[in-house]
Amino acid sequence: MIAFRHQTLLQELSLRLSVTDHCQMRCRYCVPSLDGDMCRQTNILTYEEIVTLVRCLQERFDLRKLRITGGEPLVRPGLERLIGEVSALGIPDLALTTNGIRLPQLARTLKKAGLRRVNISLDSLSPDTFRSLTGSAALRQVIEGIDAALACDLRPVKLNMVVVGGVNDAEAGELLDFALRRGCELRFIELMPIGPGRRLFETGFVSSEALRLQLEKTFEFSALETTLGSSARRYRVSGAGACTGSAGFISACSNPFCHDCTRLRVTADGRLLGCLARQSGYGVRELLKSPDPAAIERVVRRAFSEKRSDLTFTQHTAMASIGG
Ligand code: SAM
Repeated sequence: MIAFRHQTLLQELSLRLSVTDHCQMRCRYCVPSLDGDMCRQTNILTYEEIVTLVRCLQERFDLRKLRITGGEPLVRPGLERLIGEVSALGIPDLALTTNGIRLPQLARTLKKAGLRRVNISLDSLSPDTFRSLTGSAALRQVIEGIDAALACDLRPVKLNMVVVGGVNDAEAGELLDFALRRGCELRFIELMPIGPGRRLFETGFVSSEALRLQLEKTFEFSALETTLGSSARRYRVSGAGACTGSAGFISACSNPFCHDCTRLRVTADGRLLGCLARQSGYGVRELLKSPDPAAIERVVRRAFSEKRSDLTFTQHTAMASIGG
């Protein structure tokens, strides 16, 4: 029965490809300290290896969804070359998750290379809170990055807010209003006890349900249908004035979507992970030297069979090193 379920999910495979574990930000829930374990840039897959892997996955699974992530993907030089090459393979849903800092310079080039859409992290609109959560003073560039993505039609532009109780949760309404006014979809992400998020989790976890109840004082929510493999529970939202749009809640802790999870992750150094919550993974770099799509398919199936069946998190590696 479980094998049958995995077979169905594999037909909708969604690949999250990390191209670097470096990032200019130091989000408290994501990135270990500066001198931590994040200096493996020399071990990362080359663009050629990545394209070979994507081609094999496409051949065996009819890959239709690919998200490029990191670390911060836009710090890796020449990313537009990779995007151009995977776009030429005909993957219809080609997306990027970014902190947005470099988007003002790169949005147009990325769009031209074949990128379809972007998710941009935005945890706060207050420069002080932004700095305290992300270790960065680049809030203005991030907002310019959001506007650049909209101007280049990298739509839908989705904004990711990791909600941390006592730090930015009181700002959820302000961020939702900001997103609705710009025509972006805000996604409220529950803090996960992964990597450095573990410690913060003890004091900072806020469930999606609690947050929605708080927001319902100001906004009206009506549930939208979810599609297979979607991590977010989406709502039509209307706020003050004529502002309407949609928002999502990603509830990996309180209401996980494991049963429908179609995600496969590839770390920057070429490990394949079937489940974000579990400390596991299989190196595929060797297999890419003389690529055998059937051998890669076997590894994918093995990784997929390891999706968690309970609610625990045993992942100790930082999200920035896995690819969020
Ligand atoms: N640098 C890019 C960015 O800032 O979006 C992409 C990588 S980042 C790891 C991808 C996503 O993971 C971000 O939306 C981030 O907020 C989220 N994330 C990282 N650690 C998390 C944690 N412990 N709990 C929940 N979300 C987390």
